[in-house]
Amino acid sequence: MFILGKLFSVTVVKGGFLRAKAIDQWTRELPIKAKRGDIVDKNGVLLAGSKGTYSIYVRPRCVTDIEGVISVLGKLFNLNQDKLREKLTKKVTSEIKIIGELEKSKVNELLDYELSGVYYSIDNTRVYPLGSALCQTLGYLSSDGTGQSGLEKYYDEYLKGVNGEIIYESDLTGTDLSQNATYLPATNGFNIQLTIDSEIQLICENQLARAVAEYSPKSAQVLVLEPSTGKILAMAQQPSYDLNEIPRDDMEYLLKVGRNSLILDSYEPGSTFKVITASANIEEYNRGNKKAFSPEYIFNSSRYRIVGGRKIKCWTTHANGKHANENLAMALNNSCNPIFVDIALSLGKSTMYSYIQNFNFGKPTGVDFQGEAIGMLVPEQAVTDGDLARIGFGQTIAVTPIQLASAVCAAVNGGNYYQP
Ligand SMILES: [Zn+2]
Repeated sequence: MFILGKLFSVTVVKGGFLRAKAIDQWTRELPIKAKRGDIVDKNGVLLAGSKGTYSIYVRPRCVTDIEGVISVLGKLFNLNQDKLREKLTKKVTSEIKIIGELEKSKVNELLDYELSGVYYSIDNTRVYPLGSALCQTLGYLSSDGTGQSGLEKYYDEYLKGVNGEIIYESDLTGTDLSQNATYLPATNGFNIQLTIDSEIQLICENQLARAVAEYSPKSAQVLVLEPSTGKILAMAQQPSYDLNEIPRDDMEYLLKVGRNSLILDSYEPGSTFKVITASANIEEYNRGNKKAFSPEYIFNSSRYRIVGGRKIKCWTTHANGKHANENLAMALNNSCNPIFVDIALSLGKSTMYSYIQNFNFGKPTGVDFQGEAIGMLVPEQAVTDGDLARIGFGQTIAVTPIQLASAVCAAVNGGNYYQP
């Protein structure tokens, strides 16, 4: 709405003034392309930016001194003058690109000659100063500069800005009267500031690289959230790729290494889910629920529980006093499966499910990212005792890492769930 309003004011209300001013500008510059906004971290460190390089164009129709243009362009940019002449006189096209990838100083030298019919434009080459760090989150652009994945895609509307426009008047035969052009300047894209802390991000990237070198896993991920706010401080993932050298010729590989598994993929959380079961127990105990266990309660030391006729075991043997005489804190510390089976079954399906839902499992977290997965919950009415027992220690349930990390933040920050 704002943009429409502005266009209206530019073209209609201020038409006279802008036209005079615009023609002056447009005789030098073709600044039609909007500059894409930067993406920075919480401290303003640049994560994705645009390197402004310049291209030179000639609009043959507007050249008054063709030999002068050929001579200056040839000298300044080391171009063969015969070839230039051929290029500039051969065909009537509106614009002919002479050279690109120039520094601003070189363009300034050219502007000193005040050649009519010679223009420049700013090209925005996307650069990612941290290389492969955060690549699955930042995402990449298509070769024409449109956001293709990650935040580059999610925020494309804001980042891309609005290109400018040159409106030509034409005569009755459709021929441009280029002197009578109206120039609407480009509106640059918005910058976007993330909650990511690039220092923490780089620490995570380095540690992941070390872990991968040592254990050769298929993939590895780190997610860091600030529990008191839910802000995402780091999202690191291996394998990765360099955003400055996107492997576009191997799309299958790019889709694989460019996928943000922390948001897009679900998995069985296993023992990490015991934090949630323990939280449910503590909260229920504090509320006076007699089915919850007190912090001092000593659980049965057997390695097994039989649920629905099937044996559910601890991950390790309970021989030689291991995992013996555990209270809740010790059970968490030992990651002892049967204790969490006891808790889940004692609290019961409806209480467990109310916690699972309040911790936001089975729903998107709403994080700013396209295609967030929601994980998998067995519908409450279909849950058997065997399912419930396994859910207690993180099986028979699938979650995304971002769901789990956000839930754990709520478990340790006093019970406030924040959208990451
Ligand atoms: Zn155990």
